[in-house]
Parts: sequence; structure tokens; C-alpha cells
Amino acid sequence: MTILTPPRPDLVAESSPFRLFRIEVAEVRRVSRHLVRITFTGPELSAMTSGGLDQRVKMIFPLSGQLEPVVPSGARPYQALRALPPEIRPKLRSYTVRAHRPELGEFDVDFVLHGDTGPASAFAGRAKPGDRLVVYAPNAECPADPQRSGVEFRMDALRDRALLVGDETALPAISGILAALPMGVRAQVYVEIPAAADAQHLASAAKVEVHWLPRSDRRPGAALLSAVRAASLSGGEWYAWLAGETGMVTSVRRHLLDERGFDRDAVTFMGYWRYGKSEDEPKD
Ligand SMILES: Cc1cc2nc3c(=O)[nH]c(=O)nc-3n(C[C@H](O)[C@H](O)[C@H](O)COP(=O)(O)OP(=O)(O)OC[C@H]3O[C@@H](n4cnc5c(N)ncnc54)[C@H](O)[C@@H]3O)c2cc1C
Repeated sequence: MTILTPPRPDLVAESSPFRLFRIEVAEVRRVSRHLVRITFTGPELSAMTSGGLDQRVKMIFPLSGQLEPVVPSGARPYQALRALPPEIRPKLRSYTVRAHRPELGEFDVDFVLHGDTGPASAFAGRAKPGDRLVVYAPNAECPADPQRSGVEFRMDALRDRALLVGDETALPAISGILAALPMGVRAQVYVEIPAAADAQHLASAAKVEVHWLPRSDRRPGAALLSAVRAASLSGGEWYAWLAGETGMVTSVRRHLLDERGFDRDAVTFMGYWRYGKSEDEPKD
């Protein structure tokens, strides 16, 4: 029988590269029309680390009627949580660490607000200080295997040209990647956003050209695909990083491999969400 209890520090401090941390909302700020930045804090967060760039974490949300997610006790609580029957399993969603301030025991996540259609967006739309969650995040006390660190951008594959393609869900990752790009790299960045008012300042030491593509009433990904098709990608050695709606990511990747001659190893790609499908629905 699986025993369900709120997570306790002694149970979550397992020595694996990722672990569960109890967190609560410290601050909620509107970044733009469709993006809200939530700062999380927690007594255990001094033991969290982040690889920067596009570092992903799993946010764990309570089921309706619960004040905080209820996670299994015992060894390997995250694995036990994933194995729970769907009706009692808390909701898990992947997000990007937008900023990490270990000295303050805080990190930020930028949530896209897409209405009450999913538990993560619904939470973000109503979040207030004191709301409690759990995050599955890198453990500072146990170094990660570089292949499984939750960072996908490959600095080792980057030469002198970077192509970053993503929608608003990828904006926190793009921002982290740009912040880490060294001088001497040239980056072409294509970002599809719900509305022009969602554009934001992106800082980098690299030479960056950002193309903001307001979606208006087009299907997600359509604007990105046509912009990348029309892009001039001449000179230098290109490395591409693609993230966002899965259909868009697949189409842009195919275009780069089949029509632009990109090497497979020079393209990193991640489907971040599926148009018309919840993360709870099985993958195709
Ligand atoms: C590695 C990784 C990092 C990510 N980082 C971020 C991040 O930093 N910020 C962020 O906001 N998202 C991020 N995402 C995407 C996020 O996990 C998904 O958007 C997720 O589906 C949101 O869950 P939900 O509960 O709101 O909606 P779900 O229950 O998954 O879906 C419900 C409905 O909403 C639709 N939907 C889901 N997401 C969107 C969207 N963005 N716009 C419009 N409709 C949507 C679905 O198609 C479905 O119809 C990331 C995903 C991955 C894999």
C-alpha cells in the first residue's frame, strides 16, 4: 500500500542529482500581458542548484481541494509519485528556472497564462504569496551527470553562430541562453509571442538579432515556421536550439535538416507543449 503524507525534509533529502523541495510563493509579478513571474522560496532551497541556460525543473501542483501537493513518503519519492494512479497523483509540469538566487534561497519561474485550461496555468493565474508547491530540481549536494542535468543547450556544440527558435514558453530558456552566450558569437533569435506587448528586453554579451513574431489569430507555430523559412542563415557554423509547441518544433527541425543541410548533431529540439492536448494525455 502507498502511504501519502506531505513531504518531510528528511524524506526528500535523498542523495540523487535531482530531489524534491518544498516551496512556497514569495512574490507574483506580471512581466507582460501573457507572462507572470513567480518567485519561490523555501527552507530547503539552499540545497538547490541550477545549471542556468535552459535548466528545467518539474513543478508539482496540488490536486483540487488540497492546500499543498501530497507526495509519497519513503525512498525515491519522485519515482513513487510518478507511479501513483492518476486520480491521486499530483499534477506535474516542466518549467524553466528563469533566475536562481541561491544566496537568498529563491528562484523565479515565468509562467505563460493560457487560461484555466491546465492546472499549471490556472495556478499561475491565481498565485499569491504563501501558496505551497513542490519542485523536483537539481540537488546541490549531488553532482549531476551532464547528460541528465536538465540542461539541453549544448555549449560544446556551439561554434560561432546560434539560431534560437521558440515561442513564449521558451522565452525564459532563451533569456537564460542569451545571458550565457559569450562575446564573439552571433545569434539569430526568433520568438513567437501571443501579442506584441509580450516582447521583453533580452540581455547578452553576444551579437544578437531578435525577431519578435506576434501570433495574433494564427495557429501557434505558423509565424515561426514561415520566419525561419525566410531567414538568411549564411556564414559561420550554425548550432540551432528549438523549443515550444511540438508541431512547430518538428516542422522547423525538418526544415533545418532537409532544406538547410543542418547536421543532426547541430540541432537541439524540445517539444514544450502540444496544441490542443494536455500534458496529462498520453504522448503519440
Ligand atoms: C523543458 C520544458 C520547459 C518549459 N518551460 C516553460 C516555462 O518556463 N514557462 C512556461 O510557461 N511553459 C514552459 N513549458 C511548457 C509547459 O510545461 C506547458 O505549456 C504545459 O503544458 C503547461 O501546463 P498546463 O497545466 O498549464 O496545461 P496542460 O494541462 O498541459 O494543457 C491544457 C491545455 O492547454 C494547452 N496549452 C498548454 N500550454 C499552452 C500554452 N503555453 N499556450 C497555449 N495553450 C497551452 C494545451 O494544448 C491543452 O489544450 C516548458 C516545457 C518543457 C518540456
